[in-house]
Formats: sequence, structure tokens, C-alpha cells
Amino acid sequence: MFQTEILKEIAKSSEIKKDEPMSLHTTFHIGGPADIFIETNDIKDFTNIIRYLQNENCRYFVMGNGSNLLVDDKGYRGVVVSTRGKNSDKHLIKDSYVTLLDDVCIYNKGNNMQAEIFVEKGYLDSAEILKSKNLVHAGSGILLSKLASVIADSGFAGFEFASGIPGTLGGAVAMNAGAYGGEIKDVIESVRVIVNGDIRVLKKDELDLSYRNSIIQREHMIVLDALFAFDNGDKDEILTKIKELNNKRKSKQPLEYASAGSTFKRPEGYFAGKLIQDAGLKGYRCGDVMVSEKHSGFVVNVGNGTFEEAMNVINHVKEEVRKHFGIKMELEVKVLS
Ligand SMILES: Cc1cc2nc3c(=O)[nH]c(=O)nc-3n(C[C@H](O)[C@H](O)[C@H](O)COP(=O)(O)OP(=O)(O)OC[C@H]3O[C@@H](n4cnc5c(N)ncnc54)[C@H](O)[C@@H]3O)c2cc1C
Repeated sequence: MFQTEILKEIAKSSEIKKDEPMSLHTTFHIGGPADIFIETNDIKDFTNIIRYLQNENCRYFVMGNGSNLLVDDKGYRGVVVSTRGKNSDKHLIKDSYVTLLDDVCIYNKGNNMQAEIFVEKGYLDSAEILKSKNLVHAGSGILLSKLASVIADSGFAGFEFASGIPGTLGGAVAMNAGAYGGEIKDVIESVRVIVNGDIRVLKKDELDLSYRNSIIQREHMIVLDALFAFDNGDKDEILTKIKELNNKRKSKQPLEYASAGSTFKRPEGYFAGKLIQDAGLKGYRCGDVMVSEKHSGFVVNVGNGTFEEAMNVINHVKEEVRKHFGIKMELEVKVLS
């Protein structure tokens, strides 16, 4: 049997495509075809696919919303598995256990029975936490914007920072995504992952979350779902804060153009955008890819930008910042080639 047919057997409710352009699945709108592209939102399918690919030693890559990716125009030789299934974000709130990658389950504090279930399943050491905190359990394919809106509607405070980050929960946990003083590290309790074919739950301390880094990235683990804990807040205040942060984003970031967000990590003690601007690179352009005029920390695709153009801009920025300030710029964006 061909690999695609085996995969279709394994993952019945998932969509499997051949030679799928990655430019259609990345916010940078750059990237050639993936040999095989699978979109799934079923946790069972997703687990079976990953286990099969690992067993067969297939080259594969797991992605969420593609908002932190720069993909080569030559595409990807192997299987790309996306957690953004066809019906993603249609399921949302459930009162039982997460079974789909876009499920969210909300447990108000005091729900001792649920706390015991999470202890049993290894997400929590003790049920104590549900006496004082509300819990949210969600699948890795849900968009942060949707998750933030469900959490806000529940009147739970602490996830406002994530509402404008255009990624999925899985990508955000892997990247320890953060903005405006908040990060995933502040609100996460535990994450269920696939590691070497096994399913394990990692507690917060085991995730080793730091600035745009985690054990998940370093050890190529796959996120299935995650458990978060929140305090009660004032719903109106939470919604106002989300609005303010999103307005701030709109006014400061070049959201009108395709990009993968902040291209470079913040070097310790500096701001990447300021260094790039001070090196005289605001608006530096190669073909259709350029350093944003609005925010120099963003490399944007203003038309039909290519991978080569993006890499030329990135390498030029790195070289000039090193020349001017002796600082090594590290990519935040993940390059897939
Ligand atoms: C306009 C714009 C603004 C942005 N603003 C911010 C911001 O304020 N703060 C911030 O932190 N980031 C920001 N980003 C970057 C990006 O949105 C985040 O890094 C986000 O968390 C990536 O999620 P994703 O689902 O798109 O991941 P992808 O881009 O699809 O993948 C990113 C990485 O996560 C891994 N990954 C994805 N899903 C899983 C999974 N289920 N299991 C294991 N690994 C997985 C991938 O393998 C890859 O290494 C911005 C991007 C854009 C385009």
C-alpha cells in the first residue's frame, strides 16, 4: 500500500493531501509543497498518525497555525501534520474530557470530582488547586484567540495577553508564547505529550519553559492538550483589557502584511526592532520581502515574496546588526526546508 493509503486507514477523520503548497498554511504566505499534508482535529487520529510516522522513521513535521514558520520554496520532503483540522473551532466548549484538538473544557473552582480525575490522569499532583483556581483543559489545535475568548467569557483572568497571538495552543506551548508581560508559563499547569511514541503528562516544572523555549521544542515532543489554571476576574475588565491590547497590536504591528511575527528573538538587554532600526534597516527590501516600515522587528511579505528573498533580508539584518553593535541576532521564526 502507498503511504497515503495507509495514513488514510489510520486517520479516517483526517484530511490527507499530496503536494500541498505550504504558502496556503503559513501566515508568511511563503513555502512550496509538502509531499504529504495532513489536517486533523481528532486526538486519536493525531496520536495514531504520529506513532505510525515515528515507527516507520518517516520525516515529519507537526505544525499549528503556521504563524511562526518560514518554509522553503522547494517545500518539505516528508509529511506535515497540521492540528488545524477542517472543522477546527466548530466544537469548542465541552463539559467532559478533551477528545478533539479544538475542544475546550471549563471547570469552575470547587469542582472536586473533576480535580480528582485530573489527579488520576496525572495532570495534577493534588486536587487542592481546584479549591482556589478555575481549570481550563484544551486541545492543541485551538486558536489562542478562541481560547482567550472562551476564558474571558467564563470570567477567568490571566489569559488576556494571548488573545492577539495568531497561533494554536500547541505552537504556543512549544514556543512559550508571550506578549505584553504575560506568557504561557504563567498560567499552565501541565501538558499531555507524545514522546517517542508514548503518551505522558508533563507538569509545569518539567516543561522547562523560558523565553520562546521549552523542553517540547528541544526534545521534539508533540503536544496533545494542556491544562491551565486561572483566578476569577471581572469579565468587563478582562474584555476591556483584551480590546486595549489588540488595539495596541494593530497600531504598532504591520498586521496588514503577511509575516511570521517577530522575526528575531529579543537579545538580552535589547529590543530586536530598535537594533534593526538603529542599524538603518527600516524598509530594507529584497524583492517582495522587507523589514517593516511600521515595526522593524517584523520582516513582511508585501506581495509574492519568496523564501530566498526572506532569507536574504534575514541574513542582511543579522550581518548589519553584528557589524554595527556586535550583537548576534537569533531567529525566533522556525525555518522549515
Ligand atoms: C502578526 C503576528 C504576531 C505575533 N505575535 C506574537 C506575540 O505577541 N508573541 C509570541 O510569542 N508570538 C507571536 N507570534 C508568533 C506565533 O504566533 C507564535 O509563536 C505561536 O505560538 C505559534 O503558534 P502556531 O500554532 O502558529 O505554531 P506554528 O507556527 O505552526 O509552529 C511553531 C512551532 O511550534 C511547533 N508546534 C506547533 N504545534 C505543535 C504541537 N501540537 N506540538 C508540538 N509542537 C508544535 C512547530 O513544530 C514549530 O516548531 C506572532 C506571529 C504573527 C504572524
